[in-house]
Amino acid sequence: MGVFTWLDRLVSRVPLVVAVAMPIAVFLVVDLAIQLIILQGFGGTGSFVRWEWSAITVPVFAFIPGYLVAIVAVAAQMKRLGWWRLLDSNRSLDTIRSLSWREFERLVAAGFAAKGWSAELVGQRGPDGGTDLFLRKGKQRAIVQCKQRRFPGGYVEARDVREFAGVITAGKLMKGFFVTSGVFTPEATDFAEKVPQLELIDGADLLVMFGHCPKCRASVEPKQGKYGVFLSCVRYPSCDGALNLAA
Ligand SMILES: [Zn+2]
Repeated sequence: MGVFTWLDRLVSRVPLVVAVAMPIAVFLVVDLAIQLIILQGFGGTGSFVRWEWSAITVPVFAFIPGYLVAIVAVAAQMKRLGWWRLLDSNRSLDTIRSLSWREFERLVAAGFAAKGWSAELVGQRGPDGGTDLFLRKGKQRAIVQCKQRRFPGGYVEARDVREFAGVITAGKLMKGFFVTSGVFTPEATDFAEKVPQLELIDGADLLVMFGHCPKCRASVEPKQGKYGVFLSCVRYPSCDGALNLAA
């Protein structure tokens, strides 16, 4: 483990291209050197099979540490560029998609609470516009519609967004949020851009809203626990910070 930490530290200072090209360069140099040595020793007239075998195998073995360094280098770069976080957020989105609509609403409420809103769940869902949350922050009032989409790429259409915009204007509200665990169609996004009171929040935006770990200030992600969904520090298990969702 110590070796890997050391390697990781070493290669994260080196540009990715250098870290990956280095083992290949080592291979070529060692291969060339061994071929020259063998050619010298056998004069090129010895067993061709033996010549070929050593000229390939020996550099391959020499190549193994280099290859290892290259793997660590790629991993270190992924970490540095935040690709791990991207994978993590995909996992988090999977968790979100697996929630019941009630749990999804509570999760959305937690997101708004982290943004300083006080959120109130609306008891039943009416067929009229389907407001799921009432939000309050100082003098501001807003409504939220939640649309749970259970499959990756599950989308919300412009028709739903337009309907919700109607509810916002009818209620003379300053702000309305349409939240989904899926994505919005381009038509829906285009439409929302023309309505200043309307804000669209998709699954990835939602993850950003949750706020920070109370212990280390890293971001949090939803997880399915023994007693339902909670927000866990992304650095778990190194950090056990967590946030509970409001009941
Ligand atoms: Zn933490």
